[in-house]
Amino acid sequence: MSSGLLEDASFNQSPAFGDVDLFSADRPLADAAQRAGLDLANLSACGKDYGAATTFDLGRIANENPPRLHLVDGKGNRLDYVEFHPAYHAMMAKSIGHGIHASAHDGSDEPGPVSTRAVRLYLATQAESGHMCPVTMTHACIGALRSEPALLAKWLPRIQTRTYDPRPLPWWEKNGVTLGMGMTERQGGTDVRANITRAVAHGDHVEITGHKWFMSAPMCDAFLVLAQAEGGLTCYLMPRYRPDGSRNQIRFQRLKDKLGNKSNASSEVEFHGAYAERVGAEGAGVRTIIEMVNLTRLDCAIASAAQSRIALSQALNHIRNRSVFQRRLVDQPSMRATVADLALELEAQVALVFRLCRASERAHDDPAEAAYVRLLTPAAKFLVCKSTPQLVYESLECLGGNGYTEDLPLARYFRESPLNAIWEGSGNVMALDVLRAAGRHPDQAMATVSALAKTAAVAFDVRPLTETLAKVLQSGDAERRARFLCEGLAKIAALAALAEAKSDFATLYGDTRLTGAKFAQFGTADLGSAEQALVDRALAA
Ligand SMILES: Cc1cc2nc3c(=O)[nH]c(=O)nc-3n(C[C@H](O)[C@H](O)[C@H](O)COP(=O)(O)OP(=O)(O)OC[C@H]3O[C@@H](n4cnc5c(N)ncnc54)[C@H](O)[C@@H]3O)c2cc1C
Repeated sequence: MSSGLLEDASFNQSPAFGDVDLFSADRPLADAAQRAGLDLANLSACGKDYGAATTFDLGRIANENPPRLHLVDGKGNRLDYVEFHPAYHAMMAKSIGHGIHASAHDGSDEPGPVSTRAVRLYLATQAESGHMCPVTMTHACIGALRSEPALLAKWLPRIQTRTYDPRPLPWWEKNGVTLGMGMTERQGGTDVRANITRAVAHGDHVEITGHKWFMSAPMCDAFLVLAQAEGGLTCYLMPRYRPDGSRNQIRFQRLKDKLGNKSNASSEVEFHGAYAERVGAEGAGVRTIIEMVNLTRLDCAIASAAQSRIALSQALNHIRNRSVFQRRLVDQPSMRATVADLALELEAQVALVFRLCRASERAHDDPAEAAYVRLLTPAAKFLVCKSTPQLVYESLECLGGNGYTEDLPLARYFRESPLNAIWEGSGNVMALDVLRAAGRHPDQAMATVSALAKTAAVAFDVRPLTETLAKVLQSGDAERRARFLCEGLAKIAALAALAEAKSDFATLYGDTRLTGAKFAQFGTADLGSAEQALVDRALAA
């Protein structure tokens, strides 16, 4: 009999969560991958890699040792160098090794390149979120660079390697490079047209003078930057080193002191006539970066679902091992109701984001899928990312007091959880973007909604909601009700994705999320007999 004194091992506590196959243990994810015809064995290996206890440890250490900015050396020479902990570098090497920064653009024959990469992103995020920032930005920048084929051809071979090379060297001397982006200025973030940073032409390049109020991952090898040229707002690629090998005039001011996202550096920066090359036509800056932003927005939704999933996995690990009042928590009815409801939300989110990935894969040849991507990308980002703090918080609470301490990773997950909803377009901006898409191409938008309603119909009649949405959309009140429209659309799409996947939970999702009183807290919905199936499935590992 243990005395409970500190020198004894604890009893009635859950074991550390780790050394799991994050892919195979996650039934909604594995099912989505199977539906998409992905290489399951390969993804399982990736799931084991990110689910290893040693990988979780790297994630913890990278966040406990945030990056430090060295502006100058001890003799006053300008350095502009950000030092990261080796654990961060190890995570970067792992994720670049898995190709998450570029594999969707490889043109490989593997089935579902976007979906395969999305699974890997989903797995990597569970181990550590912060390093995903430069990994996602590199992936997304390739999309924008497509509008400048010669520049892309020059950089792509260095981007597409599976080698992480953090050395501060000119990009052409490196074995692998990463890309970041600088759009947000003090006076204008969402409203990038308010940017005041200026680009002045110098022969085949420009020199940029101004600032960015947020520029994350400042040790990237180049940044896509917006600046005002004579012809208007334009996109540029600004390398860390000038073509003569000297350091570019990129002067960091400070690293942000953030709520979470501690492993990642987010800088304030000035450009003092920094060398840059144009990407896309002059004056077409917004159009050019939209290519990039659509990719980062999808990544935000995938990564937020992953954050909720790792928090739920921690909760499940705890409740299956912890007993209260002589009964395991997982057998306590109100705890089952809570985790089943969380699991239901994730079933829908995973179905939705992977449906979106498949649509992206088909969009080039299929206008209906292209219209789906345009309308649903901001809507999915809105629905998934904005729900993450609540999902993570409820999972955290499943661990009781332990969940609230810094000894376990839940506190870190919670601090990270609002971020994806903010960057790459905050909540209202996503809702307004859905309105914009519907307003520009109303016939396409209506066709997309009709198709969703038809797909969903096998599980649930969404017509009352689609009729309400159509009425609000056509009213003079659409902008004020933008969140209602956006969320309603995203929920219909989530339901349709579940129905298309022949999920046992599609009807339940409709019953609990699309009708009646507004959903308030996880665990309040009556899931009926599906509760057992949801808990079993969530605990499948
Ligand atoms: C950790 C972190 C890292 C970041 N890294 C980068 C980076 O690497 N590069 C980069 O360029 N930026 C970066 N950002 C900036 C980020 O993209 C912006 O903060 C974000 O896009 C919002 O812009 P803003 O802060 O200027 O807010 P604002 O644009 O001022 O928006 C404030 C609020 O108003 C809402 N709003 C805006 N327009 C409307 C409207 N028309 N109607 C109703 N509501 C509206 C928004 O939804 C938001 O809630 C980062 C931010 C964070 C937090």
